[in-house]
Amino acid sequence: MDAVPLSTPDPGQLVDLDRAHVWHPYASAVDPLPVYPVVGAQGTRLELADGRELVDGMSSWWAAIHGYRHPVLDRAMHEQVDRFAHVMFGGLTHRPAVELADLLVRITPAPLTRVFFSDSGSVAVEVALKMALQYWQGRGEPTRQRVVTVRGGYHGDTAGAMSVCDPVTGMHGLFRDYLPRQLFADRPRPRYDEEVRDTDLDPVATLLRDHPGEVAAVIIEPIVQGAGGMRFYAPEYLRRLRALCDEYGTLLIADEIATGFGRTGRLWGSDHAGVVPDIFCVGKALTGGYLSMAATLCTDEVAEGICATPGGVFMHGPTFMGNPLAAAVAHASVELLLSADWSSRVAAVSAGLTEGLAAARELPQVAEVRVLGAIGVIELREPVDLRRMQAAIVDRGAWVRPFGRLVYAMPPYVSTAADLQVVTAAMVGAVAACG
Ligand SMILES: *Cc1c(COP(=O)(O)O)cnc(C)c1O
Repeated sequence: MDAVPLSTPDPGQLVDLDRAHVWHPYASAVDPLPVYPVVGAQGTRLELADGRELVDGMSSWWAAIHGYRHPVLDRAMHEQVDRFAHVMFGGLTHRPAVELADLLVRITPAPLTRVFFSDSGSVAVEVALKMALQYWQGRGEPTRQRVVTVRGGYHGDTAGAMSVCDPVTGMHGLFRDYLPRQLFADRPRPRYDEEVRDTDLDPVATLLRDHPGEVAAVIIEPIVQGAGGMRFYAPEYLRRLRALCDEYGTLLIADEIATGFGRTGRLWGSDHAGVVPDIFCVGKALTGGYLSMAATLCTDEVAEGICATPGGVFMHGPTFMGNPLAAAVAHASVELLLSADWSSRVAAVSAGLTEGLAAARELPQVAEVRVLGAIGVIELREPVDLRRMQAAIVDRGAWVRPFGRLVYAMPPYVSTAADLQVVTAAMVGAVAACG
């Protein structure tokens, strides 16, 4: 092959090259929507190539809870890269991974003692599902191969994770014969502050009763169904779901990838209900938005069942498992979160979102406005025109990425009242202009 000419594209060429070659999330390669080149990010601000500055309302998809270029996180990255960036995790270990695992065990519900690191949330969910299936093999019930979940969920984009996403808004249609057939109950009916009726858990109970000896686990996002619709449901529902898992002798997997690290106003979504899952997935904000890393935690009981299978080992091991750079910045991020008064910060963000989004309630195109913790949602009656809506939000100086009928924000916890005013005013203004 001939030498490839080096090039340093200017911002205009960058966008052209991007359009020609780069695939973006949930995007067309042949007719992509515009993308905005970022040249810097600091605190709650994204700096665009054309000089505009946007106030971030997304925390880069739930991840950058401390904002961008936080000095403590930058330092943790620098210190670790000066030691070593990565070593394989088979047969080797290192301080960043061990310290992070120990910290995660200390801050998650008590019986969770074992930590399996992976590289993304979807993989953490795959690991959780494999753990559940392998556990039952170790316990002599190999027929437990299916998973129960509720509609309206989102658990990631790999095959196992897709199989437990909402069957309508998820991608089941495209991959029907490829995906494992899971068991779906109606989505939780009672909203966050509504009373739970005895009948609300009937759909799940029926599935568990009708499939004896088949169900390896129930998987759910605690309290907030995120990418499946940004719905907040009653903690009592989760408590009763835990009780049903116990009654029918199956495992409960909590997918805390979006809800973890304070986003809902409690450290974990599960904490709203005081529920202890058997398997627990974290990701997204784990590294404060610096690198891709996730973890799946489980109890001693689950770990012992898994290791009672013939090989005696858990059959998973990503190449970049326990990556030291990611683990070091994750440890710094979690410590930073715990050392600050995170719950007052989240409460302040919550108050700013509540106040700023209230005006949207008056708009005819708005079905509902809801806020929980540092999550603010405007739900429209019709799907948004993403091209127009995105431009309208950016024109108002904020970065918020709508999807479907939802214009929603989960800002960094360091957002000031003024930041939140910009973000919420952009959301309300854009909805009024083109919702
Ligand atoms: C984002 C998300 C995932 C997938 O995480 P990735 O890092 O994108 O693979 C899984 N579960 C929930 C609840 C999520 O919000």
